[in-house]
Amino acid sequence: MNVLHVSAECYPAAKAGGLGDVVGALPKYLNDIDYPSAVVMPKYRTKWVRNQDIRPVFTGTFPLLDDFIPFSVEEVISVDLGYPLYLVNIIGQFDRPGIYGDPEAGWYTDNESRFLYFQRAVAEWLLQEKRKPDIIHCHDYHSGLLPFILTHSFRYQELAYIPTVFTIHNGEYHGSFDWNLSYLIPSFPPKARGLLEWDYRINPLACGIKCAWHVTTVSPTYLEELSTDANGLEILIRQEKAKASGVLNGIDDQVWDPATDPLIHTHLDSDISSYKKHNKEALSSDFLFDPHLPVFTFIGRLVREKGADLLPDLIDQILSTGADLCFLVLGTGEPEIHHRFQALRQKHTGRFDVALKYDERLAHQLYAGSDFLLMPSRVEPCGLNQLYAMRYGTVPIVRSVGGLKDTVIDLAESSKKGRGIRFDHFTLEDARQAIWRAREAYESPPTIRDLRKRIMQLDFSWTQAARNYSNIYKKLIKKTIK
Ligand code: ADP
Repeated sequence: MNVLHVSAECYPAAKAGGLGDVVGALPKYLNDIDYPSAVVMPKYRTKWVRNQDIRPVFTGTFPLLDDFIPFSVEEVISVDLGYPLYLVNIIGQFDRPGIYGDPEAGWYTDNESRFLYFQRAVAEWLLQEKRKPDIIHCHDYHSGLLPFILTHSFRYQELAYIPTVFTIHNGEYHGSFDWNLSYLIPSFPPKARGLLEWDYRINPLACGIKCAWHVTTVSPTYLEELSTDANGLEILIRQEKAKASGVLNGIDDQVWDPATDPLIHTHLDSDISSYKKHNKEALSSDFLFDPHLPVFTFIGRLVREKGADLLPDLIDQILSTGADLCFLVLGTGEPEIHHRFQALRQKHTGRFDVALKYDERLAHQLYAGSDFLLMPSRVEPCGLNQLYAMRYGTVPIVRSVGGLKDTVIDLAESSKKGRGIRFDHFTLEDARQAIWRAREAYESPPTIRDLRKRIMQLDFSWTQAARNYSNIYKKLIKKTIK
């Protein structure tokens, strides 16, 4: 059974967050259990893509109004990622360095049409190709219109028999746009119009949920949460629940391995505390802080969804008590939060530092060198950071939401099975209490030693998740045979 993943991101070619990690790893693990899988994504002008050797596998056009839009599909041949990676090249659409925008210029204003062009090219390629995939697996709103195009657009009717899976990695972003861009969608019967629409706009996320044969979310708890809080799609989620399931993400334990990770300073051998100590000291070349104190870190997008707006007050309040702790932050996001962190760095120099950028190396080094990882998220579909943190011996402090609830058992619940510290309410008081509890654990050497050892041994690899997806694929294929 051949599976084609359609995505806007895939690590290491292009990654902005967890979507890139998932699509970069899942196909490899599906291949391992004999589900040959490939990925198709836009050909951005990222450094990684520019450094690869590629070979064209298809050139063609798709019709748009009175015109034909040329495109090509190219395969990366210089590295073995564990699966074939195909890049869709459309002049003027993706030959830019950013995925969704540039750090300086901001969000690209033509993202709706860019990703529609991408989906149209994929549909056309599949139509022309002799060998069709058995399953088409679309990820997030960037490929959410493809299940509609394949089943309702006249031009692609002969592909309508191929089962589609749509995975919601983040239900906050819908990618919705005005009906005046509907000419970009290949023509379809008027009665299908309602499938594209939500709240009087074309909504790719809603459309993916309506039209895919099966819908998944990246954790079971997130699926439950979406039925009461999905940025306006709650009713739809409840309506479509019968064809939905939550599959918890895994992590790529070949990329994220503290014993071999080329991006960290000191590799793990048998002595966890010296591995931690050396990696913490190595952070001094990027951050101003005292490595003798417990270090609490936040890594991620500096947006409300991640609860990043709670951090400046939280950190300020705690450091103003004179507590012997340090806080480090790596991330980019809302300018207001950037300014708050910059001011905090002046106020608590040596106890708080921040790197306002996206930096893959530094993220790995922080997972390896920190004592605790803070995740005060308002929403967390799965969350990979807490999984990486545990694998690198960093104790997660998380709010009880989404995938964080599914993966972090509180120490108070079980001293033998506990994996970290959880708090329930999105308040300064709850978050502060969690940090005091963490410091208490840190001050008890046997507690922190046992905890680190335990979380580093957990198995969060993709093997189980790949099996869960393969079961979904199998059921869908059976439906086509009936
Ligand atoms: P998201 O909702 O952003 O996708 P996830 O927890 O699923 O959140 O995944 C986040 C991924 O992005 C992790 O691999 C994390 O290490 C990485 N990441 C986030 N922000 C940064 C940053 N500023 N620099 C480097 N890596 C980052």
